[in-house]
Amino acid sequence: MEDPRRRIPRSDDLWTNSSILEARQQLGDAPVRRAVDAVLARARSGDIDPEQIESTLASELAGHSASLLRPVINATGVIVHTNLGRAPLSAWAVAAMTLASGYVDIELDLASGQRSARGRSARTALKERCTAAEDALIVNNGAAALVLATTALAGGAEIVLSRGEFVEIGAGFRLSDLISSTGVTLVEVGTTNRTHLGDYADAISDRTAALLKVHPSNFRIEGFTSEVGVDELAGLAAHHGLPLVVDIGSGLVTPDPLLPAEPAATEALAAGADLVIMSGDKLMGGPQAGIILGRASLIQRLARHPLARAVRCDKLTLAALEATIRVGQTPVSAYLHADADRLRERATRMAEALGGEVVAHDGRVGGGGGAGVSLSGWAVALPSAIALPLRTGDPAVLVRVHDGRCLIDLRCVPESEDMLVIEAARSALGGRTKARSSEFRGDANP
Ligand SMILES: *Cc1c(COP(=O)(O)O)cnc(C)c1O
Repeated sequence: MEDPRRRIPRSDDLWTNSSILEARQQLGDAPVRRAVDAVLARARSGDIDPEQIESTLASELAGHSASLLRPVINATGVIVHTNLGRAPLSAWAVAAMTLASGYVDIELDLASGQRSARGRSARTALKERCTAAEDALIVNNGAAALVLATTALAGGAEIVLSRGEFVEIGAGFRLSDLISSTGVTLVEVGTTNRTHLGDYADAISDRTAALLKVHPSNFRIEGFTSEVGVDELAGLAAHHGLPLVVDIGSGLVTPDPLLPAEPAATEALAAGADLVIMSGDKLMGGPQAGIILGRASLIQRLARHPLARAVRCDKLTLAALEATIRVGQTPVSAYLHADADRLRERATRMAEALGGEVVAHDGRVGGGGGAGVSLSGWAVALPSAIALPLRTGDPAVLVRVHDGRCLIDLRCVPESEDMLVIEAARSALGGRTKARSSEFRGDANP
């Protein structure tokens, strides 16, 4: 009998067949080479027949990219989902990143041929959007902005901060530890629930270099509480010739009526903050970045500090942030302001297609923003057993599991992907329900 292994093609012959060439273009040579070698090894060991080599390879390589990151459909109703990379970028931001992925004039003035200030156009866009700011600086993230501001203004000296604003952000990181780590001494004033202007005044000494106010973005203290507003703190800081730094966290440039407790950069600056710090990838809806707005002299001081070089952000971030700011329309804002009636209609169609129940379901800002804010909306309730197959399926769909049910919330799903979610849920349910895709055609409004 003929040894079937003799029918195994040579690796070099496979390497130039058309489907492999296509995969090499998409994924690069190295990952394809590993897949080819692995499939050939399986054929040699008798695990698959030589005739199955090409189809096995095709299915191994299908739908992959050169990165192992997998896109996820966010059906949780949580908009700025930290575990899913926070803000999804707008099409304009993505286009700007693609454009910036080659050589760009990020630090060059094309007219003179001379070196120019890095990311100048992104900084200009920020100043145009937030005219209350004399200047702007963009760094790697909000935490980097905070550590740069406090170190540059108060390295080796003291900063006064209310006890109620000692915030722990995700994964056990405490902003106070971050600030202290570069040799700034934090002086804690007030109590957990109440801090008064006099507490700050009493704490100011000749070692004080700045006052700091941090927005407690991921929690709320209710009941017998009081805090000192930016305007009052600014008055006190000015009286002592100290800068006031305000970390507003979430990145609203102007106030949003939907989020009354969320501070906005324009308001904080108008109230007298010297520097305002925020993240680019929370409510601003852009890429990961730390944004510092405020007095030109202070921004210059920060920009010249050695730490600024260690926390500078890359050209892709600058491009995406600039596009996000200039266009102003972001998926985050669309999901935040999603119309509840429309969400209900979409959920109803999905429930009909899948045999689920439509239930009221509040969306959340997430990502340590809009603490306690509920965004009224709807979800489709299905058996909780489908959460795992949905998560591990293709496309991966993340749902909320609550009270023993799987809740599919379409707030953060582009309408054009509703059908994908229905198909994924249908196959997770084990094909028990029938396709009714015709209902959705021509109706999906991306
Ligand atoms: C999120 C947050 C930070 C950290 O910002 P990153 O961009 O996540 O580094 C700092 N301060 C406050 C108040 C925040 O909400």
